[in-house]
Amino acid sequence: MNKLTIRDADVAGKRVFVRVDFNVPLADGKITDDSRIRAAIPTINLLLQRGARVILASHLGRPDGKVQDGLRLRPVGERLTQLLRRHVPVTGDALGVGTEDAIKRLRSGEVLLLENLRFHAEEEKNDPGFAATLASYADIYVNDAFGTAHRAHASTVGIAKFLPSYAGLLMEREIEMLSRLLETPERPFAAILGGAKVSDKIKVIDHLLTKVDMLVLGGGMANTFLLAQGKAVGKSLAEPDRVEDARRILATAEANGVRVVLPVDVIVAKEVTRGTEYKTLLAEKIPASWHIVDLGKASQDLMVDALSDAKTVFWNGPLGVFEIPSFAHGTRAVARMLADRADKGATVVVGGGDSVAAVTQEGLADRMTHISTGGGASLEFLEGRDLPGVTVLPDRPAVGAKA
Ligand code: ADP
Ligand code: MG
Repeated sequence: MNKLTIRDADVAGKRVFVRVDFNVPLADGKITDDSRIRAAIPTINLLLQRGARVILASHLGRPDGKVQDGLRLRPVGERLTQLLRRHVPVTGDALGVGTEDAIKRLRSGEVLLLENLRFHAEEEKNDPGFAATLASYADIYVNDAFGTAHRAHASTVGIAKFLPSYAGLLMEREIEMLSRLLETPERPFAAILGGAKVSDKIKVIDHLLTKVDMLVLGGGMANTFLLAQGKAVGKSLAEPDRVEDARRILATAEANGVRVVLPVDVIVAKEVTRGTEYKTLLAEKIPASWHIVDLGKASQDLMVDALSDAKTVFWNGPLGVFEIPSFAHGTRAVARMLADRADKGATVVVGGGDSVAAVTQEGLADRMTHISTGGGASLEFLEGRDLPGVTVLPDRPAVGAKA
C-alpha cells in the first residue's frame, strides 16, 4: 500500500484523532460480535506504546443526526476497557465543553472515546465546520475505519484536510489484502457470491469477471441467474428486472473464459421460516408454491469440487438462509472447505456482514486468510472504485524523490 501509515508518524506526546469503525451489532444493549473492536486494537496499542494521547471516534448505527440512547458507545467503551486493560471513558457528546476539557486532560498513553459521531447530522454531511472542530481536538489524524472508507463524511474525509493524516494498521491490511485480489492473485482465482439481492452485487461481479477464473453463485441472488437460464424459481426471492444483467454476466463470463458454477439442486421450503416443510429438488423442477432456501447436496459437492484447487478465493454472501439452521448447510459446507483451503496455503478473503457472521458462527474465522471488517467498503473496493476515505490520505513519497 502506498499510503503513509502510523508507522511513519511521530506521535509521542501528540494528540491523535483515530477514526475507528466500532459500528458493531447490538442486541438488548449488548455487543453480539466485537470483531470490529478487536480489529482496531493493534493501531491503538502501537499509538499508546509510542506515547500518543489517543482520541477515538466512531459512528454506531443510523441515528440520523439525533441522540438515541440505544446507540450510545458506552458498551463499546466497556469492551475496549477489557481489551486494552486500561480505562476508556466515553464522552457524553462528540462536541462540547465537557469533551474539550476531557481532551485537554488526556495524557500520553491514555485513551478517550468520543460519543457516536452520527448524533450530529453534520458528520454524514461532511460539514466543514464540524470537521474543523473535530480536527481542533488533535495534532494528527489517523483513519483506521476501513468499513466506513466508502463514505465521504466529516470524520473520514473532511478532517483529513486540516491535519497531517495517516492510515491505521487495519486500514493498511484491508487495502493490502483486497488489492492483492485485484492485482496479483495466485491462480486459479475464484469468487463466490451469494446473499440476498443480485442488484447489490452486479457491479462487483462485472469487475471481478475481468479478474477471476471461476465464479460460484448461490444464495438468493443465484435465483435470478436460474431465471436467466430459463428455469422457474417458484416463490423464491428473485429480481426479474435483473434477468437481463444476469444474462449479460453469463455471456461475458463465457467470452472471458470464466467458469460459472450455479446450483444444480436446491433445498426448497414451503415458507422461509423455522420448522417449515422442506425438501431437495433439481434446479429444473421448482414448483410454483415453493421457496429456494439453500444449496442441495449435489450443488455443495459440485462447488466444493470446483473450488478444491483454488489458490485465491473471495467470498461474499451466504449461500442460503443461513440464519435458519436447516438452511445453513450450503454456507457451512463452503465455509469449512475454504478454511481447509486456507490451511493449505490458499489466500481466502471473506467480506460482507452476513458472510462474516456465518463464518464466525462456525468458529472458522481465525482460519481464513483475511476477514474484512468492511461489507459495503470491500465490495466498492472490488468494484475497482476509489474509496474517498482512502483517496484523501497522503501517499508515501516515492523512493528517491527529492524533498
Ligand atoms: P453480506 O452481508 O455477506 O454481504 P447479503 O446481505 O447480501 O450478504 O445477504 C445476506 C442475506 O441473504 C442473509 O440474510 C440470507 O438469509 C439471505 N439469503 C441467502 N440465500 C437466500 C435465499 N435463497 N433466499 C432468501 N434469502 C437468502
Ligand atoms: Mg448483509
